[in-house]
Amino acid sequence: MEDDPVTACLFQNLLTTAGFEVALAADGEECLARAEAWSPAIMILDLLMPKMHGIDVLRRLKNSPATRAIGVIMCTARSYKADVQQALAMGAFAVLTKPVERGDLLAAVQRFLRHEKPPLDRTLLATPAASPGEIYAPVLPKDRPFIRFWGTRGSIPVSGPGYIRHGGDTSCVEVGRGAESIIIDAGSGIRELGLRLAQDGPRRVHLFITHTHWDHIQGFPFFAPLFIPGFEVVVYGASGFGKDLKSIFQGQVDRDYFPVQFEDMRAKVEFVVLTPEPVEVENLSVTWEYTQHPQATIGYKVEVAGRKIGYASDDEFLIGYHGAPQAITLDSEWMTPHRRLLEFLSDVDLLVHEAQYTNPEYGAKVRWGHSSVSNACVLAKLARARRWLVTHHDPLHEDAFLDEKLNVTREILRTLEHPVELANCFDGMVEYF
Ligand SMILES: [Zn+2]
Ligand SMILES: [Zn+2]
Repeated sequence: MEDDPVTACLFQNLLTTAGFEVALAADGEECLARAEAWSPAIMILDLLMPKMHGIDVLRRLKNSPATRAIGVIMCTARSYKADVQQALAMGAFAVLTKPVERGDLLAAVQRFLRHEKPPLDRTLLATPAASPGEIYAPVLPKDRPFIRFWGTRGSIPVSGPGYIRHGGDTSCVEVGRGAESIIIDAGSGIRELGLRLAQDGPRRVHLFITHTHWDHIQGFPFFAPLFIPGFEVVVYGASGFGKDLKSIFQGQVDRDYFPVQFEDMRAKVEFVVLTPEPVEVENLSVTWEYTQHPQATIGYKVEVAGRKIGYASDDEFLIGYHGAPQAITLDSEWMTPHRRLLEFLSDVDLLVHEAQYTNPEYGAKVRWGHSSVSNACVLAKLARARRWLVTHHDPLHEDAFLDEKLNVTREILRTLEHPVELANCFDGMVEYF
């Protein structure tokens, strides 16, 4: 009546030595057959047996007048209180928890034969809570480089039931390690980041701008540290093709557009035009390269603790190419405008790059400054990316659509035989790299 042959053998020896006649059954069906044919005084049943559950066997034994009087002792490794109570309610004499102590088993058998009360059932006693030292309790690494996405939408903020999972704030990310971090872009996502920084108190904040299209600067006037004395905000950007960085940010809060002017901001704001030299901020090193996007748009590479992250939120890779991704190699003509950026992003530990349009959408949006899914896959492959986070989601793409687009992206990468860890970014997402 015990499906583990070693335990069955031990029980048999124990009971035989104590002077009982013992027969074994391998499963529930055999158990019932023997109960009818052999009429034992006691049966020892396992709760989980092959072919038939122990509770089922118990029910049949107790429902049949021929076998009702047989004493049933149940053994179980799964000592859930509900199971034990059910077995007792259905007429089991005792329930013993495995591994069953020899003394307990003999005591239960003898009590039944002497018509005494069943033995105290240890399984019904409350299981003591684990002591903290026994619990495996991993914690998030505090000193691993991280990226936190505060805004992952392109073009314009969106909200509503279709955007709940990925969020609707425009581009803003924080890259850092521990308490040290830099910010890339000031889309609407920077508003929430600003509230957190304001809580922590004045410090020097480093804000790197990829370009000054609305979706990358529209949160700037709502960045709380700008209005708090003691904060210093350093804004970095490439020299544009027209107005300089400072004029663009000042113009954004011109009284025609915004109620509070630049001179009313209480923080010290400084503008720095990037040079080819890396910018060293605390223990982070930041470099940049131009992407293919209208206006002077750049992508960043941040190195921290020996790890590298490449970030290019707006980049039209393989401009005008609509063909199969397998056909593109490093030597293809199509690659000519993209070689520098590709080299810049190669072999990073984490690649953050857009794949904004489905291929049919891209057919109608060439030179809008964004990549088709399959062209972005070519970049991920040629840059030998091992992890790729897709950001800068189109405002037309709701959650379910983005899920499907991600599955298509995986399928294309499979076709390209480039296995890569892949995910869609969402507002609030944190990744360690
Ligand atoms: Zn953008
Ligand atoms: Zn743009």
